[in-house]
Amino acid sequence: MNSALNSLDPSTIEFMEWLISKDTNPGDTLLVVEDYFDKKYVILFDKSMLTNVIVAYRDGMPWCITCNTEDCGHVGFAIYLKQNYDRDDQVVY
Ligand SMILES: [Zn+2]
Repeated sequence: MNSALNSLDPSTIEFMEWLISKDTNPGDTLLVVEDYFDKKYVILFDKSMLTNVIVAYRDGMPWCITCNTEDCGHVGFAIYLKQNYDRDDQVVY
């Protein structure tokens, strides 16, 4: 189940880390985590779209309902978020 996570482009991970590290400067982040339901779905607020984005986990793999795709930035963000939850078992945003 984790193989897809391991094959994610490292540059994408770096980008997501950058996104999250930007959280230390609130108001300047591109994506804000509104809600997180483990293994079910994530609700993000995308400031570039000015709308909530829902990423649902299907069979453990995230799917962006808003973009109707599995490879947009929201999905990458959701994957990174899930990895952090799985590793630390606590809120990281
Ligand atoms: Zn999306």
